[in-house]
Amino acid sequence: MSDSQMTNTTDAAQNNAPTDTPETRRDTPRNGAPGTPAPSAAPSSDKPLAWLDGEGLHFDDAKTLAAVRRKPVSATMISGLVDRCPAQYLFSDKLKDLVIPVTPQDARIRGIVFHRACELYYARPDARRGAPIDPEAFEECKTKALEEHPEVRDDPEASAWLEAASRRFCAMGPEATDVTVAGYRDDRGRQSPALEMKVTGRLDGVGRRVFGAIDRLITPNPDNPRNVVIDDYKTGGKACVYSDRMRFPDFSYQRQQTLYSMLLEGDTRTFSDGWHLLGGRLIYPMAEYVTLHDDNAGTDVKVSVQGQGAIIRLDVRNPEYRRRTLDDAAKASDALDRESETNLFEYRPSVLCAWCPLAKICPAARIGSKENAQKAFADQPDAQTLAPAIVRA
Ligand code: SF4
Repeated sequence: MSDSQMTNTTDAAQNNAPTDTPETRRDTPRNGAPGTPAPSAAPSSDKPLAWLDGEGLHFDDAKTLAAVRRKPVSATMISGLVDRCPAQYLFSDKLKDLVIPVTPQDARIRGIVFHRACELYYARPDARRGAPIDPEAFEECKTKALEEHPEVRDDPEASAWLEAASRRFCAMGPEATDVTVAGYRDDRGRQSPALEMKVTGRLDGVGRRVFGAIDRLITPNPDNPRNVVIDDYKTGGKACVYSDRMRFPDFSYQRQQTLYSMLLEGDTRTFSDGWHLLGGRLIYPMAEYVTLHDDNAGTDVKVSVQGQGAIIRLDVRNPEYRRRTLDDAAKASDALDRESETNLFEYRPSVLCAWCPLAKICPAARIGSKENAQKAFADQPDAQTLAPAIVRA
């Protein structure tokens, strides 16, 4: 493993599949505060908003279907429509929060609060942040983020997790923490730090607009502010160095950052010729180990990082990754055109069905007999819970 692929604060590491699922991403534009899930609320009419039949999911609500038809392509959408199951993706995107309360145990909420603490910290001028990172100042930002999410603050387990994530992040070392944040011009022409930066545009061969939300854009050399690196915080415990030779290759994070890079290159709000991308990084404060593929041995290996986190470096200029990313984005765009036109979002059953919230009402669900699959299936919501949003016809 070369340094250009991955560094961590101790040693090389190894891994398993990442635990930050695409669903934890906040790259889908929503109404309300950035990154905040839609509020849980019962549907306004007695009629469910969608149904499942032998073919897939259908919306029974014109407004929801119209909103689906307007959606831009995002990294989460590509994962949902291309890698996973379209019916599950549309349910999770449009209906799930209506009937399944978001609790402090939900990894999405914890991740959102951690991201918000980082956003508040790096929005401070350099002089107020200092270098190395000031844990007390970070603590102030974490406290403010928790004030915005009292449900996490008041949950002992969730607040302990956030405490650990903040402590580990502050201990990751200067590469992760002592950075110069790029400045960009937003849609209204205001100069802002490039944090939670929204970027949108057209990409070759992709019918729909493409949208992304970048956690942090940094400038390794402030004398050349157009040269940037995309940083993305990941709050799972399993980091991974992507290789298509892995047993279970997961291209989603590589694709996400490649997508953002291409959008940034075409983003002329700040520089008339767009940004110049040097690379991308996934920053894992909670990583316990990193999985990577050992080409010589022909196997995947796990390397412990001894609780010190990991930085995974991504090549965002790789021509093959760019080609695949554009292909996948075009496939997702075409699939949404087709499926929203016919109002049929098909099933794509897999071994992951047991972890799908529709598992108990889906006629196509494939539930394995292994103990973990059976337990996951047992934990899924029943038909009665789902009924205000979706029913089986
Ligand atoms: S149970 Fe499986 S096939 Fe059915 S919606 Fe969920 S993921 Fe798709």
